[in-house]
Amino acid sequence: MPELPEVEALRDFLDDHLVGKEIARVLPLAISVLKTYDPPPGALEGATVTSVARHGKFLDIEAGQLHLLIHLARAGWLQWKDGFPTAPPRPGKGPLALRAVLTGGDGFDLTEMGTTKRLAVHLVHDPADVPGVARLGPDPLADSFDRDAFATVLAGARRQVKGALRDQSLIAGIGNAYSDEILHVAKMSPFKLTTSLGDDDITHLHHAMRTTLKEAVERSRGVAAGRLKAEKKSSMRVHGRTGQPCPVCGDTVLEVSFSDSSLQYCPTCQTGGKQLADRRLSRLLK
Ligand SMILES: [Zn+2]
Repeated sequence: MPELPEVEALRDFLDDHLVGKEIARVLPLAISVLKTYDPPPGALEGATVTSVARHGKFLDIEAGQLHLLIHLARAGWLQWKDGFPTAPPRPGKGPLALRAVLTGGDGFDLTEMGTTKRLAVHLVHDPADVPGVARLGPDPLADSFDRDAFATVLAGARRQVKGALRDQSLIAGIGNAYSDEILHVAKMSPFKLTTSLGDDDITHLHHAMRTTLKEAVERSRGVAAGRLKAEKKSSMRVHGRTGQPCPVCGDTVLEVSFSDSSLQYCPTCQTGGKQLADRRLSRLLK
């Protein structure tokens, strides 16, 4: 799933390629991709793109007083096209979810692999009209999100720190991959409770969050959209690297179930050498 750094790189790319350009048509092709019906996609025809913003993991393309909000979800992606075939695409076939064509003939496709369709596009007058955007917490890279602002967010949530980091309503843009990476950099157990964090823990975690995300944004910037996923995967320290050596200490990276997926961590760096128990399983056995 693309997270803050990849979405920021896409935003940067689209800012270069879309701003000042006129939209010829927007064609929703997957049945459920467009979540709004008023205004209709035809309202964008002839509108000039004025900005491309990011809210958490959402892209926001502003054109003609309207906002096209895109959430790529787990398996969605954006592919830039210098041109399109003249024959219209057949709706409902394959991964193609939405096509946006500029009057210059170029544009982009949104695609989604797999059978679970979560990619979501909203066309609204105000980004806050999209519930997923309205409930977003602060952006972790915003200048105002300093160590004390982070402490306030954590103090309001008695949670395992892994869950808090990826809760979009607490902090916007971090998902399963970068929360694993941030916790590894901070040398902190993913199961540690937010309410048990000391002042130094919060300072270290805030620093780890900012540096991990900033470095990932720098790495991703300028990488072609098609290579972003490979770039993300190759730069991971523990996420998705179960059974491989920790790049810091050489211990074997372990995996444990968490929420709807699994997380990876290094026992030596993060849990004092202890293997984390699968809480879901132990709860079932009680
Ligand atoms: Zn390690």
